[in-house]
This record gives sequence, structure tokens and C-alpha cells, in this order.
Amino acid sequence: MPRIRIEYDRETCIGAFVCVDQDPDHFEPDNGKAVLVGGKRDDGVYVLENDVDGDGMERAVMAAKGCPVDAINVRDVDSGEDLYWGFEH
Ligand code: SF4
Repeated sequence: MPRIRIEYDRETCIGAFVCVDQDPDHFEPDNGKAVLVGGKRDDGVYVLENDVDGDGMERAVMAAKGCPVDAINVRDVDSGEDLYWGFEH
């Protein structure tokens, strides 16, 4: 099973909830912004590493691509490839 790393910048999030629609396993709405479910705060952003199937990986990438303010990064942990790189931190 592939392992992905999701990084989420809650400061940048404007609560458009594309991520919640695209990947409800990883994102939930909370107080007008998204929450990265199970994410831990690290270096100013929320980070989660998770084992996913191919569909789960695709959903995470769709969430990141759909975010209008590029508040989500997704990396393939095994290969080190950035599947979508939204922001620097
Ligand atoms: S899609 Fe982006 S702006 Fe919208 S809730 Fe998710 S992280 Fe926030």
C-alpha cells in the first residue's frame, strides 16, 4: 500500500471545502476552515502520513489540486515524489 504525506496550511485555508468534497477521509470542516484529520502540527503546518490505496492517493491529490489557495501538499513517501506541491514552508 502506498504511503503518502499530506501537509496542510490552516492559516492559508479560506474554507472553500473543495478538499472536504474531494477527500472526506482526510479533510473535515471545522469552524469555517478545514481540518486535516489526525494531522499533527509541525513547523507551522499540519502533517499526516497515511497508508492509502490507489484511490485514496488520487483523492488526496484531487483535494490538493482543487484547493483554490494551494494550502495542501501531497508527497509519495516511498518514492519521495511530490504528487502535488501547493505551498512552501
Ligand atoms: S480546499 Fe483549500 S481553502 Fe478550501 S477548505 Fe480545503 S484547504 Fe481550505
